[in-house]
Amino acid sequence: MKQLNYDVLIIGGGFAGSTAAWHLANKGLKILLIDSKPWSRIGDKPCGDAVSKEHFDNLGMPYPENEQLEQKIEGIKLYSPDMSTEWTVRGEGFEINAPAYTQRILREAQNRGVEVMDMTTAMKPILDNDFVKGAIIFDRRKEEQIEVRSTVVIEATGYSRSFRSKLPQNVPVAEDMDERDADIAYREVAYTKEEIEEPSYLKIFINQTTSPGGYWWYFPKGKDKVNIGLGIQGGMGYPSIYTFYEKYWRDYGSDVDRNRMIVKGGALVPTRRPLDTLVWNGIIVIGDSGYTANPVHGGGKGSAMISGFCAARSTLNAFEKRDFSSQSLWETNLCYNERYGAKQASLELFRRFLQRLSDDDISYGMRRKVIKEEDLLEASTTGDLQLSVADKAMRVLSGLGKPSLLFKLKNVAQYMKDIKDLYRNYPRNPAKLDAWRADVKQLVSEFDKVISK
Ligand SMILES: Cc1cc2nc3c(=O)[nH]c(=O)nc-3n(C[C@H](O)[C@H](O)[C@H](O)COP(=O)(O)OP(=O)(O)OC[C@H]3O[C@@H](n4cnc5c(N)ncnc54)[C@H](O)[C@@H]3O)c2cc1C
Repeated sequence: MKQLNYDVLIIGGGFAGSTAAWHLANKGLKILLIDSKPWSRIGDKPCGDAVSKEHFDNLGMPYPENEQLEQKIEGIKLYSPDMSTEWTVRGEGFEINAPAYTQRILREAQNRGVEVMDMTTAMKPILDNDFVKGAIIFDRRKEEQIEVRSTVVIEATGYSRSFRSKLPQNVPVAEDMDERDADIAYREVAYTKEEIEEPSYLKIFINQTTSPGGYWWYFPKGKDKVNIGLGIQGGMGYPSIYTFYEKYWRDYGSDVDRNRMIVKGGALVPTRRPLDTLVWNGIIVIGDSGYTANPVHGGGKGSAMISGFCAARSTLNAFEKRDFSSQSLWETNLCYNERYGAKQASLELFRRFLQRLSDDDISYGMRRKVIKEEDLLEASTTGDLQLSVADKAMRVLSGLGKPSLLFKLKNVAQYMKDIKDLYRNYPRNPAKLDAWRADVKQLVSEFDKVISK
């Protein structure tokens, strides 16, 4: 078998892998990025395609432009299940053409020395003395297997987790997940029959009947094109996502011309806290494969970029130290949890709570402003649901007929704070991971008991 040697092998060229490549390029390392898809389809996956501007700013990544940018976004309008309340949450972002943007980032990385092989799949890991040392890959163009030896592997295979799942089960990054901690999502992109009134606002519709445990979205891609879809909670035995789509799409997109459809498709997205550790000896896991998406809204492109950035940073440091052990790559966890993971853990609890609410509870809560737009924005930005909010809600509303809901909300806010504190004290080295993980598991299971009462 042909053998190739690299410093870094990146598996997967989506938002996570391409960002890692972009940040590693031109730093004196020999890097190969592979993706199973042909070049023209890299970055093409079912997605709402909305990404907040702050991610690009925070990571020094270029904004999407020209054909990569379909619509500048000024904010989100959120609708209650009974449609009687509309909240506007302001915030800049982009509705992107994901393949065009991803391919631009890859091209830039390529121009700065990263080698890219499309139509090439990582088949299995190479393990040596408890270290990942590369992968056996298959090049579909040449129909040949190649043994790629690399010092670090960055695994960015998306929800498929197709590489890390082939590691032995006792390797911490092989951790599997509960299907209920994922959303099944489906979307169509089509032209509209009329001009969209406010294309710079994304619309989100919460409704437990038409999208149980998830929501519907209507994201304009310019004046006459829209990305419309829904997510529902996985593992619950609900009917297929297409059944929901066919039954309810007119409620949210009556102007959509399905005869002029551009693309359609579904996929899964993780809605939980990140992998307990994103690293092991010689390997870093990033993006959806590391469960980095936002548990409440399922947006995962921005956080995939954060994880790619953190992976690149700790890889460069590992090469400085010439140490590629779990201990040396550990800083990926610290970087990611500080920037996003702690908030994700807190939002996982919030998501578990929200999924148990009835349409009545949600409509009531939004109408009465039990939580206000600003609090929601704060919770979604930082993962903090202010206790003062819950306190105030308790005082104002306990006389209005929903005391148990409000009591729960107060508890939810406290648990969200507690889990964030645990993440702030994320272990500084792998030896302490098991004890920390046990604390997190206990907190989550206690929380589940409290909200199910
Ligand atoms: C319907 C839907 C709507 C969504 N809406 C939004 C949204 O509006 N905004 C947002 O931010 N996020 C959204 N998300 C989530 C977002 O799409 C993901 O979080 C994000 O794209 C993850 O990026 P990634 O790079 O980790 O994975 P992916 O984009 O899935 O990339 C993984 C890549 O790895 C390649 N690959 C896999 N296995 C191998 C292998 N063995 N060898 C070689 N290559 C391999 C694949 O071909 C693929 O190109 C949505 C998700 C869904 C399903």
